[in-house]
This record gives sequence, structure tokens and C-alpha cells, in this order.
Amino acid sequence: MSVVGMAKRLGSSLAQLERLTRPVDPEARRALERRWAELPSHVRTPAQTLGRMAVGCEGTHGVFPRCNFTCTPCYHSRDANHVRVDGAHTVREVERQVAFLRSVRGPHAHTQLIGGEVSLLSPDDHAAALLAIRRHGREPMSFTHGDFSYEYLERLALGPDGRPRFRRLSFAAHFDTTMRGRQGLRRAASETDLNPYRQRFCEMFKRLRAEHGLRYFLAHNMTVTPANVEEIPQVVRDCHAMGFNMFSFQPAAFVGDERRWAEDYRLLDPDYVWAKVEEGAGARLPYEVFQTGDLRCNRTAVGFYVKDRWYPVLDDQDEADLAARDAFFTYLGGVHWNAPFPLLVLRLARVLAANPALGSLALKWLSRTLRRAGGAKKVLRALASKEVVPMTFVMHRFMHAKDVAPAWELLEQGRLADDPRLLEAQERLQACFYAMAHPESGRIVPACVQHAVLDPQENQELRQLLPLPRRPQANPSRQAVP
Ligand code: SF4
Repeated sequence: MSVVGMAKRLGSSLAQLERLTRPVDPEARRALERRWAELPSHVRTPAQTLGRMAVGCEGTHGVFPRCNFTCTPCYHSRDANHVRVDGAHTVREVERQVAFLRSVRGPHAHTQLIGGEVSLLSPDDHAAALLAIRRHGREPMSFTHGDFSYEYLERLALGPDGRPRFRRLSFAAHFDTTMRGRQGLRRAASETDLNPYRQRFCEMFKRLRAEHGLRYFLAHNMTVTPANVEEIPQVVRDCHAMGFNMFSFQPAAFVGDERRWAEDYRLLDPDYVWAKVEEGAGARLPYEVFQTGDLRCNRTAVGFYVKDRWYPVLDDQDEADLAARDAFFTYLGGVHWNAPFPLLVLRLARVLAANPALGSLALKWLSRTLRRAGGAKKVLRALASKEVVPMTFVMHRFMHAKDVAPAWELLEQGRLADDPRLLEAQERLQACFYAMAHPESGRIVPACVQHAVLDPQENQELRQLLPLPRRPQANPSRQAVP
């Protein structure tokens, strides 16, 4: 090869490396800017993560509506349980929805594989749906009631050749006393009764990791009602070290199947629910450092446990921490944190090389955080005994269908409501963090709109398309493995 040829080849390889190690993908940057421009002004705060760090969460819909539990409340419409579980339909629809999300919302996001109960899918169909989500640049998370066997999990995790088909699995597991149907505990009298089931769920993933090397991320979801709100602190105290890295609390809303509305959910005050979570964590949970959409919808506190005490990664009452947050958004907003590790290191190195002051900012933040957590010695000792656990607390408040339907109808007409309650619903919908895709109409809608407005019709149509078989369907998650 001539010298000119070699120089050209070298130049093109360097250009490729330059593109690959850019801290933020230009397409991701454009998607973030679009999301920021769409946000209503009341949520464009210095703490807002939408449009700065992420485009928001995504969820599937209408891909496997059926569930084998009967919870009170249930967000699915009354027809959902008359729809057959059909793996081919699931995989095809997931593929369509995520391809559309990819085209509109850019190359990276977190997508929830959600609908009815995910473990009613065969392990292979479940895996195919997760792989479809990954193919479109998304980090999938399966939503489950957690009542499946280790054999099911292993068959999901391993391909036909017996080797892992994923590097990591993420699950959000719903455990609380509003649920009916768990094997061995059809109906829990108290949240504490569910602890062995929570523990068993986490143990399955520890075993999977030990036997097959798969990493995992587990979130614990709990629907909060007036009947179980007082039990939140005990749930957090009992379960924070089981293996979960997120506790998400959903105050119940009047949405979905009205036959399953059991109490007056309007009695749930968000400040009271959050105070109960704080009581369990043994700490104030600063939720205004990172804002995800509208604070009336979401509260998020990011931190970690050292033994039995939780500490925030950033304290909203510390000006230096807020400055660190601002620098994080400015210089690292849009970085794809799930990129392969060596690539991530190179990208971060480029950010640091261009902004050397970030190094000392990061070191000062680390020293403040260690001091808050009791000092480096204490944290290191806890690390050695595996008693440092990253933990994010979330509260997500779905809205009542009665408010969402008229609020959305007016928004569709381009009108803002006069009624303050509907206006609040509109503001929250406009700042929604949790989106669902409709490729057939080219729309992306808030999950509240999906559940309150679109699900009933969609499930009626699915009931026609996928009628239940005459004989009951076998449940793959409970079948014995040959
Ligand atoms: S789904 Fe509803 S409650 Fe959740 S962020 Fe969107 S508008 Fe708010």
C-alpha cells in the first residue's frame, strides 16, 4: 500500500475512533434538545433531568395484557384478562413499538416490558421481546408479580446452547397486600407476610449470577393504599438489603378495572406517603435534586445505604452539591451510561481532558459524600462486608382516569382547562416522564392516557384478535422443567 493510501486509511480509522468516543451521540443530543423544547416552562428547572440526561422512560402496551393475579386496584381494563397470551403477537408488537420509539426518541432509553404478567410468556418469547428492545438501543426491564420459578428464570437467561443470552437482566417486581393469587399465599394479611417471597425472588437472581455470571438490577414496586401506607417503613427496613436497588411506591389511583377499586384512594397525601418512605430509610429523602418530569407525578431520591442508613448522592441543602449537579448536567448530560465499559471510560476521559476542572469537582464531591456517610474508613469497612447498597427511592403517582380523560380531550383540541384540577392534569401530561408508542398513528402518549383513555378500546380489539382458547392456557413459569 502506498504512503498516501496508508495515510488515508489511518485518517479514516482516527475519524471513526473520534466518532465512537464522542461523549454524547449527536442523535441523542438532538433528541434531548427536542424533549427539552417540548417541556412546559414550569418543569424547566435546574433540577430537571428530562431533556438533559434522558428523554424519559418508555413502556410497552397491548403486548400481553393478561395476568393471573387479581389485585385491588388493577390498572388494566376489564377486558385485559380475556386476551390470549400469544408470544408471536408480543414479539411483533414490541418490535414495532420500540422501532418507532427509536426513530422518534433517539438511540438510548430505558424501556419497560410491561402489560399483564410477563412470566405468562414462554421463556423464549420473553427473551425475544427483551432482545428486540435491546436491538433498538434500549435497556429493557421486565415487570412481574415475581411468582415464577428459578427454572423459568434460567430458561429465560440462557439460550438453546446453554449460554447466557444477556449480560444483565432487569426486573421490577410487584409485591404488596393489594395482590391476590401468589402461590402459597393467595392473600397476604400484612406486608411482612410477603417478606419470604421478596427474599426468594432476590435469591433466584443471586443464584443465577453465581451459576451463570449474569448481572441483574431489581426494583421493588409497591402499590400504596390507605390500608397499607402505615406498613411502608417496615417494608423498607426489612427489605433494603435483600438485593433490590430501587424501591418504587405507587399511590393507588382510580384507573383501570373499576370492579377492583376497593378504598378511597383520594385519601392518600403524597407528602404523607413520602414521609413514610423516609421513616423506613431513616433519613430525609431529597427529591428536588433530580426532578423527573413534574414533581406532582414523580419524586426520586438517588443514594446508597451504608449498613442500615441511607445517604443521598447529592444533598439539596448543600450549595456545593447543587453546583456538582449542574456541572454533571452540563458536561455529562446525554452520556450513554450503559455503553460497553471500555468505550464509556474513553468517552469520560475525553470529557475530563476537555474540562480538567471536573476532576477536582468530582474529588470534592466524593470527599463530602464520604464524610456525610461517616467517613472513608466506615464506608470501606461496609464495602468489604457488602453492606453498601446503591438505592433509589421513587414515588410515581398515576392520575385518576376521571381527571385524565377530559384533560387529554381538551389538550387534543389545543385548549387549556379552566378547572384547576384538570389544568393540573394537563400540566402533568405535558411533562410526562413515562411514554407509550402508537406507531399506527405516529403518536407517543403518556402512560396515564394509555391506561385511562386508550386501554379499554385497545383491549376490546385484542379480545377479538386473540380470543382465549377453550382449554385453559398452560403457565410456562409454573411448568416443571423436563
Ligand atoms: S404516566 Fe401519568 S403520572 Fe406518570 S409521569 Fe406521565 S402523566 Fe405523570
